This record gives sequence, C-alpha cells and structure tokens, in this order.
Amino acid sequence: MKKFLLIMTCHMLNLLSLTAQDKVQIIAHRGYWQSRGSAQNSIAALEGANRIRVYGSEFDVQMTVDNVLVVNHDGSIKGININRSPYSVLKDSTLTNGEKIPTLREYLEAAKHTDIRLIFELKPSDTPERTREAVRLSVEMVREKKLMHRTEFITFGLDAGKELIRLVPDAAVYYLSGDLSPKELKNLGFAGLDYNYNVMRKHPEWFKQAKALGLAINVWTVNDLTLMREMIDAGADFITTDIPNDALIFVSSKLSAN
Ligand code: MG
Repeated sequence: MKKFLLIMTCHMLNLLSLTAQDKVQIIAHRGYWQSRGSAQNSIAALEGANRIRVYGSEFDVQMTVDNVLVVNHDGSIKGININRSPYSVLKDSTLTNGEKIPTLREYLEAAKHTDIRLIFELKPSDTPERTREAVRLSVEMVREKKLMHRTEFITFGLDAGKELIRLVPDAAVYYLSGDLSPKELKNLGFAGLDYNYNVMRKHPEWFKQAKALGLAINVWTVNDLTLMREMIDAGADFITTDIPNDALIFVSSKLSAN
C-alpha cells in the first residue's frame, strides 16, 4: 500500500512537472518599460522585468564608430546616428525616464543583480566586417561579466547569427527575420526561430516542423491577449510582448484552467 501511494505520488508529480515544462515563457520586449519611471531598454526596465519574474528581458545592442556597445533600439538617439558617431557624442543622451543611454557594460553590470534570462538582440552594423566586430565584442563582454549561461542571442542579421553560432556554439541563437524555414535554421545551427506572429500565421506548418526538429519557437511582438491565446495554442514556446505583466497573469490563468 505504501509503495502504491509512493508510485501514485511520483506519477502525479511527473504530471505536474510536465505541465510546468509545457508552460509558455514570457519575454519582456525592451524590458518592463510600461512601469512607472521606466523607459524602453533602460536599466530600470530590466530591473522591472526581473521584479515581475518573467522568463527573460529583451534588449537591443548596437556599436558606436569607436567600438562602444550601447543599449538602444533605434539607430539614432536625439538625432545622433549611433553607428557613425563616437561614444563621447552620445554618452549624455537621456532616455525618457532620465537615465543616460546605457552602455552594454553598464547594462550587464546591472544584470548581474538579476536572475532572469538576458535576451540580447544584436543590431547589425553598417558592414559585415563591423557586424562581426560587434559580435566579437558582445561575446567578449558577456563572457567578462560571466553572464553567458543566462544569455540568449537574437538577431535580424544572418551574418551576425552565423558569427554568434561560430563563436559561442553552446549558446542559444535565434533568427528574427522570418525568411528562413525551420529546416534551414536547423542546418545553420540556430536554436530556434523568433518570428513576427504574421510570419507564423502565413506558415502555420512551421510550428510543427520546428518542434519536430527540436527548435524553440518565439513569437513577437504579441501585445493582445486574443493573439496570445492563438499563438500559445498553435505551439509557441515563448511570447515576446510589451505587456509582460498582463501576459504572466494570462498564462497562469490559462494554465490553471487546463
Ligand atoms: Mg529588439
């Protein structure tokens, strides 16, 4: 009788852990920037994402002409082109919450005090050579800060993706552009796809194909709960969203309803 109870308990725990594993993960797009005092790609947004316990916080990285990596989405800040300007020209530019534009070094320094995944988007530079240099310096910086085990890379640039895979074969690298099939991504060594939801709607067969190939599926930028339901039901493993707090509540209520 005792043995029977033990087996039953283990069986139930297995079921529970399977459910937990199956749970879709939420990634805060540019951090949790919709909270008070925050801004997109700010250190406050990273800390906010950590506070609400999402799986990961996404951020965008680009390189100045004198090889300083900074965290910013747009190619320019306050009219200054990041790729073509030295860091000294843009270093005092402020985000909407008053923070100065963070360097990657400062951002990762702050990330050391968090324990969520760092979803590192590397923006391609002006030329393939400059992009490879940005990849090399990014990898070096993440290694220096001892954060590689928590970092996943995403990029629109195929050159950048290939170089990341070459330099850090163990890291998870995802491709964003939406123009390659799961089979093509697998052959190139990507860990998965990270595509716009419209791409996945156009290619519903890619959910199944990616799963069969052992690739993870991330979908961006899902800011509507009906769409979120659609993507989760179709098989998304990760949802990248500007409403991470609502998404967490939605996912946990969906899980308990199942
Ligand atoms: Mg991004």
